[in-house]
Amino acid sequence: MLKSMIAAALAMLMAGTAAAQAPAEVLFRNVQVFDGKSDRLTAPTSVLVRGNRIAAIGSAVPAAPGATILDGEGRTLMPGLIDAHWHTILIRPTPEQAIFGDVGFTNLVAGAEARATLMRGFTSVRDLGGPSFGLKQAIDSGVVDGPRIWPSGAMITVTSGHGDFRKASDLPRDGSRPLSRMEQIGGAMVADSPDAVRQRVREQLMLGASQIKLTAGGGVASPHSPLDVSTFTPEELKAAVDAASNWGTYVAVHAYTPTAVRRAIDAGVKVIEHAHLIDDATARYMGEKGVWLSTQPFLAEEASPFQPGSSQYLKEQAVVAGTDVLYGLVRKYRIKTAFGTDILFSESQARRQAALLAAMTRWFTPAEALRMATSTNGELLALSGLRSPYEGKLGVVEEGALADLLLVEGDPIGNIRLIEDPERNFRVIMKDGRIYKNSLQDR
Ligand SMILES: [Zn+2]
Repeated sequence: MLKSMIAAALAMLMAGTAAAQAPAEVLFRNVQVFDGKSDRLTAPTSVLVRGNRIAAIGSAVPAAPGATILDGEGRTLMPGLIDAHWHTILIRPTPEQAIFGDVGFTNLVAGAEARATLMRGFTSVRDLGGPSFGLKQAIDSGVVDGPRIWPSGAMITVTSGHGDFRKASDLPRDGSRPLSRMEQIGGAMVADSPDAVRQRVREQLMLGASQIKLTAGGGVASPHSPLDVSTFTPEELKAAVDAASNWGTYVAVHAYTPTAVRRAIDAGVKVIEHAHLIDDATARYMGEKGVWLSTQPFLAEEASPFQPGSSQYLKEQAVVAGTDVLYGLVRKYRIKTAFGTDILFSESQARRQAALLAAMTRWFTPAEALRMATSTNGELLALSGLRSPYEGKLGVVEEGALADLLLVEGDPIGNIRLIEDPERNFRVIMKDGRIYKNSLQDR
């Protein structure tokens, strides 16, 4: 009896192995490729996907019998888009819901948004704060459709810093009382000494963070932090950098002002998020140090989630005013710059995710904008090194890269506005070699 059970189990195992030895193939035929790096499309060619990788590119690429053949009819094949500053859990809820609401509900809503994100062509996101580990696990195991997630876990802040959503009645903090709700759910952690920072960083790493997020200065959405303030001391920043680099990864900081940016760079921080209020000298310093800028086109005409006249609204206006100056400095000092959107608490704004990339053509050529959201963002993701949750190259169409691909109706370099309407113009969406959307049969 036992013997036959073992034999049956072995047979099942071997059947599984056999299936794994012959991964599914998908052949994109007659496509012009934007490879994520070039200024132009290739001549019509074919791209073969085997399993979750791009196996071959060329006009005479043969597909195995049984392969899925997709005739591109001259459409454009390009890498899946990457959003370098995203908050998987915090798009649809209000701040009140996100912090005090039911965690199960918050995650289910975030799951629906994750599917919408993928259907907008964003196949990877770098999550800069929020308890996204559970949803990431559900996406990776195929329970929910969504993008690949590079999670930071809780953003780490100081008392009253950006991300501290506690109320005055929660003070003074007292070790005999439980952590605040925001900390219990892993949204943000308050740390007021180098030791406390180290502990909170290591906790995020234990949960699976691929990079660490600290808020080094004031922020727009938070109730207690004016924009001009600096928060962590140099020693605290250094403690975070040490703990992250011991673990093979890096620290990214939220910072708008010259002081906050400079202090972070001097502590060994690798990526500055935002920086909309920096001056010429600080931009030059970033360029010289080779520090990454992960920033967003905050635009005056975009709807604001904040009440006009509220302190958050006024802070947002200041940051919006800095956007134009910042992209000028990026060009002047050739700062390595990633594209992200940092959308918070607004489902309708999230629908504009790809449109915000198209809006980058105010400062960059369409090819430059598309490069930023593909190969450049792919390089930024690779900064996580061995702590990256997914092995392989992203943001490019080349042999051996992970097969995250979009088949676009038309030429997005010639007309970048095509990406403003992903539902109509992204005809095929593939992530990790799997087709999540194929509207080629619909005419
Ligand atoms: Zn953010």
